[in-house]
Amino acid sequence: MPRNTHAIIDLDALAYNFKAMSALAPTSKQVIVIKANAYGNGAVAVALALQHKAQMFAVAFLDEVYELRDAGITQPILVLQGPHQEQECEQTDLLNVVWMLSAQHQLNWLQSWLHRSFSQESKKRTRHWLKFDTGMHRLGLMPEDYSLLKQQHPELFSHDVVIATHLSAADEPGKNSIEVQLKRFEAMIGKDQNPLSIANSAANIHLLPARQSWNRMGISLFGSSPFENDSVKPDLKPVMQLMSTVIALRVIAKGESVGYGDTWVAEKETVLATVGIGYGDGYPRHAPIGTPAIIEQHTAHLVGRVSMDMLIFDVTGFKDVKIGSKVELWGCNLPINTVAKHVGTIGYELMTRVSQRVPRVYLRG
Ligand SMILES: *Cc1c(COP(=O)(O)O)cnc(C)c1O
Repeated sequence: MPRNTHAIIDLDALAYNFKAMSALAPTSKQVIVIKANAYGNGAVAVALALQHKAQMFAVAFLDEVYELRDAGITQPILVLQGPHQEQECEQTDLLNVVWMLSAQHQLNWLQSWLHRSFSQESKKRTRHWLKFDTGMHRLGLMPEDYSLLKQQHPELFSHDVVIATHLSAADEPGKNSIEVQLKRFEAMIGKDQNPLSIANSAANIHLLPARQSWNRMGISLFGSSPFENDSVKPDLKPVMQLMSTVIALRVIAKGESVGYGDTWVAEKETVLATVGIGYGDGYPRHAPIGTPAIIEQHTAHLVGRVSMDMLIFDVTGFKDVKIGSKVELWGCNLPINTVAKHVGTIGYELMTRVSQRVPRVYLRG
């Protein structure tokens, strides 16, 4: 019997989420963010599933573009970090990418490519966005340099260039920095009529002024709420279900310990189920004792340390648990954010870290 550990990816749920998120901002266009292998869900499969609805995809850096082009995806792809090397600019037309430029050296690279390029196509079509740092302080040109940059690079500031920024706390409604960043952005743009892009998933859900010409949506499409607390509950369906099975069962006596380092000791006679997934599959090694999973409709709790290929759950009293019983590590019956809270991380990280060793099984219809 082969190991039955896999991630079910529900493409109907993906389409549902895209529709729900787009409906929130009917006058905006949507960039579908599929960096990091579509947050672990499979960039090619996700892009193919949404290609007829998509106006633009986004990835973090150029290397993430190739597999999408090889798979026949034709929409423009926004490269969120811009070029890492000047030579990457040569690929602009060939790969139909749109660069998010966020630093002076990138402006220089693209401008010199435009001057060198003989392609009339590239001169006609705008091949970049401009990103400004309104307070996240990670990437972006500085708002106070806006006017000077515009004078220095008039051809990079044409009226159709999208001007973008990224909010540092869109997932914490009411936080002061949201207002501060929006005000800085607005003041910087002044009377300019360029299309704008501010919102990620969280901002698109709760922040009306952030919904502009283009919204950039990632996590919400995969059905995980971007909000850590439940004050905002978006209507989303989980896309990824991480599944495994029980591969061994035993009863241990009171006083026996479990797993590496003997970190958990049975206070009474205990039934243990060993499950065929571990940190080699991307399940977090620091998941603490008590982290839940669903086994045969029961909520079972993790005992002992996470190993590379296995987890151990206390299934005492769950009479129907047997070898081969299905185990849901997260998904429809156990929200990924619940697991994330136990582990001290966010749904984004859990999803993204599911490793290559776990086959993705795509569901549709
Ligand atoms: C990843 C990313 C997004 C998408 O964010 P979500 O919270 O997943 O919706 C948007 N904009 C930028 C610049 C990003 O890096």
